[in-house]
Amino acid sequence: MSKCEENQKLNPFGHGFADVIGQWDWDETVAAVDATTSADVERVLAKASRGGKQLTPEDFMCLISPAADPYLEQMARLANMYTRERFGNTISMYIPMYVSNACTNKCVYCGFNHDNPFARTTLTMEQIEAECKAIKKLGPFDNLLIVSGEYPSLCGVEYLERALHTCRPYFNNLTIEVQPMRTEYYERLTHSGLNGVVCFQETYHREAYRRYHPQGMKSHYEWRLNGFDRMGQAGVHKIGMGVLIGLEDWRADVTMMARHLRYLQRHYWRTRYSVNFPRMRPSESGYQPNVVLTDRELARLTVAFRLFDHDVDISYSTRETPRFRDNMMRLGVTSMSAGSRTEPGGYVSTPDALEQFEVSDERTPSEVAAAIERQGYDVVWKDWDQIFD
Ligand code: SF4
Repeated sequence: MSKCEENQKLNPFGHGFADVIGQWDWDETVAAVDATTSADVERVLAKASRGGKQLTPEDFMCLISPAADPYLEQMARLANMYTRERFGNTISMYIPMYVSNACTNKCVYCGFNHDNPFARTTLTMEQIEAECKAIKKLGPFDNLLIVSGEYPSLCGVEYLERALHTCRPYFNNLTIEVQPMRTEYYERLTHSGLNGVVCFQETYHREAYRRYHPQGMKSHYEWRLNGFDRMGQAGVHKIGMGVLIGLEDWRADVTMMARHLRYLQRHYWRTRYSVNFPRMRPSESGYQPNVVLTDRELARLTVAFRLFDHDVDISYSTRETPRFRDNMMRLGVTSMSAGSRTEPGGYVSTPDALEQFEVSDERTPSEVAAAIERQGYDVVWKDWDQIFD
């Protein structure tokens, strides 16, 4: 057996952040957030207003604590200032294309769950091309997010390679949100035009993670968590992270994500990062969220993340309502989806295929663009060109 095979046997899920996350205890994290005082928040805000030095995850914990609630306006002013400094008055637009709703996993909160008895759809390359053309009629989108359930034998690396080649003539910036893959597969896909990978850890709580993901490859917490290292090692240009709000204590989950982001930035410093805070939406699974994040709390979480990291892209999807998205444009958000369909083939027709979740913002892309411009922001449809590859 070669050294490499021996290592693989000893560590079937590889090395990465899963090796270091154990240094932070979940309950201690929750207790530390709850113990934050007004004086702690004021100290962090004084540090944040000096700019320059980045905040630490411990500083971030103060800003998401209940004690920070009275400081929301002050935080919002700072977040607005740093976002404009780094990104100008711009919001980038992207659109998701669901290529398959087949999935081998059994996530208890998702309508695409393997046990949910409905006919699955996986788009052919001809159908993907038709979706590209239909999207182009909706608006001058140049950033495409290709999404699938996790079914490697149907939507594995070869399928994704062909999908990227099919979409490439229509979009300069291609990102995937699919099952975590091996490093060499990510490398292969970057040679086929892949720019970014989005993957949600869903929750960093190791034991609870197993309850939410009882079967399928996704049940392996370490494999998913170390997937971000594999993306970094493969030289993926941009990595998107997120936790699903509605599963476990959201303050502990986003703190773990902040720690994870700092770890990745230290190890894979050439890569750019984006974060997303999706709140659980109704789906065919009928699953009800365990925890609720109010609009005010999500606003504070968003501005806190901007103060924590001035450069990270903060993305809001159509899960959120039009009113809330419009209000958040000035407070740290830098990219938004619009016109989204979450069922495969949804742009060409309104098929019977099951959607992953119900969208809240049903405005057309041009309506969303007009709303952005009314706030005094420029809509950026294209922020990447193939010649950079
Ligand atoms: S959340 Fe993703 S992996 Fe889980 S069942 Fe749904 S599509 Fe599959």
